[in-house]
Amino acid sequence: MRCHVRIGQLVSHPCARTTHRRCRQCGNPTCERHQAGKGGDCVVCTGDHVPPSAPASVTLEEMLSFTDAEVAAFDAPAGARTGKLRDMDS
Ligand SMILES: [Zn+2]
Ligand SMILES: [Zn+2]
Repeated sequence: MRCHVRIGQLVSHPCARTTHRRCRQCGNPTCERHQAGKGGDCVVCTGDHVPPSAPASVTLEEMLSFTDAEVAAFDAPAGARTGKLRDMDS
């Protein structure tokens, strides 16, 4: 399974990390990084994740056709990726 949480500041895309867990609430595959701790809920269900308002987006299927380097370019440059990504336009 691939994590469903949408990330990416330039291109919105599913996290797509391989995972064996599912969110208890929405049932979507959720990687360790996008689980909200204890209960097994994903950060989307707990409200801890703000979906990116990127100008473009790709589906999980499309994701799998990109290389790692291309996928890396979907995200904001290193340094802007800490925290909850709420204040990109401040
Ligand atoms: Zn969920
Ligand atoms: Zn994830």
